[in-house]
Amino acid sequence: MSNLYRLLPSVDVCLQYFRDSLYPHALLCDAINEFLQEQRKKIKANQLNENDLEKQCLEKALKKYVEKALSSPLKRVINASGVVIHTNLGRSVLADEAVQAVTMAASHYCNLEFDLETGERGSRHSLVEKDICKLTGAEAALVVNNNAAAVYLMLSSLCEGGEVIVSRGELVEIGGSFRIPEVMKRSGALLQEVGTTNKTHAKDYLEVINENTKAILKVHTSNYRIIGFHSDVANVELAELAHKNNILVFFDLGSGSLVNFAEYGLRGEPTVAEIISSGVDIVTFSGDKVLGGPQAGIIAGKKEYIEKIKKNQMLRALRCDKLTLSALSATLRLYYDLSLAVQKIPTLHAMTICKNELKQKAQKLARILRLALPKDSIDVCIQENNSRVGGGSFPEDDLPTFVVCLKFKQKKLSAQLIKEKFLHTSPPLVGRVEHECFMFDVRTIREDEFRIIKEMLLSII
Ligand SMILES: *Cc1c(COP(=O)(O)O)cnc(C)c1O
Repeated sequence: MSNLYRLLPSVDVCLQYFRDSLYPHALLCDAINEFLQEQRKKIKANQLNENDLEKQCLEKALKKYVEKALSSPLKRVINASGVVIHTNLGRSVLADEAVQAVTMAASHYCNLEFDLETGERGSRHSLVEKDICKLTGAEAALVVNNNAAAVYLMLSSLCEGGEVIVSRGELVEIGGSFRIPEVMKRSGALLQEVGTTNKTHAKDYLEVINENTKAILKVHTSNYRIIGFHSDVANVELAELAHKNNILVFFDLGSGSLVNFAEYGLRGEPTVAEIISSGVDIVTFSGDKVLGGPQAGIIAGKKEYIEKIKKNQMLRALRCDKLTLSALSATLRLYYDLSLAVQKIPTLHAMTICKNELKQKAQKLARILRLALPKDSIDVCIQENNSRVGGGSFPEDDLPTFVVCLKFKQKKLSAQLIKEKFLHTSPPLVGRVEHECFMFDVRTIREDEFRIIKEMLLSII
């Protein structure tokens, strides 16, 4: 065993392998030391033999180790899951126009808070306000870091110390533990629950309104639906009821689409404009869910209330930076031509792509894989299946899709194993496993990723 230790190279020798690399020296030394330490442990545990410690073999292992240790922790991922707005995979991918806008704002000075008419200080909040108002019919708007911040800021600015009524059917938790009751507690507003999980009537709201009531908050039940014996109060009726009693109505829409997707077979999500026109005072929604832009929280509604929110000291802590605002601005502009928006905004495109096109995409990927893979060990076929919108949007709607399935004829390969291996390819790929098959849902894969998938699959098997 002591002989084996002597086969390990010194740090200096190892450094020679990286003569042409751009890794920072200190980080490289750390990674090499960690690698050598790991080898010593393995020798001690009798896990390495003389061949493993041969120069070429060791150099290859070290290079792999260093690359993994020193590569950026945030990596591109291929989304083969079919979940369009996948919160764990960064939700929406930006349109090219938005990416260009971010690049411009990131690499140059810009008029973030500079009024080019007067040459004096301007407001970052005015950069996207007009577009949001035009696209939603709202009188005023404000953008913050995310929708959780939007809900918090709205409640804290307009309801602190007062009561806010929420139906028991809407006291939701969104993934990553955003809970309405918790957010409300932090905002300083007091939660008044009404109704039951499946039914809440107008009289339930009326019964609890008192002189300390500030608002009714509707929350979009984003990630679930109560189906069957249930009812709630229509927005128009709720707005009338609230205003008669001198209180406000808010709607936390979650996803908040600017487009009606009914013509694409997606129902059950109201548009922001519909909610605004029903008389609701303020709506909040995310920038990176169905809207298809950067992470942001949009607050839109009546001017007098938005003005109050703008005066909240916490706005400074929750405001967006120039990169977010430039991406959001460019994304919103695409919405003025709907057919363009659906083509250019990747989230909208993936949600509305037609079945025929998906079939052709699946056939193309299947053909590429069939030609490359050994026929005796893997079957490649196409199946009809369903994708999801994700991001808590359209929870009832399955999107019919086509998947490319891999079936394994040899014991040493399995769908689960392929799934795990794909997490360590470069780039990693997130797919689905169903009935012992590994599946690629082509809805969320770009065609220029087909070749990469083929190469990675070959390297895995
Ligand atoms: C997603 C969601 C949120 C949180 O939005 P973020 O932009 O992730 O902060 C809040 N409320 C509802 C109803 C949601 O769907």
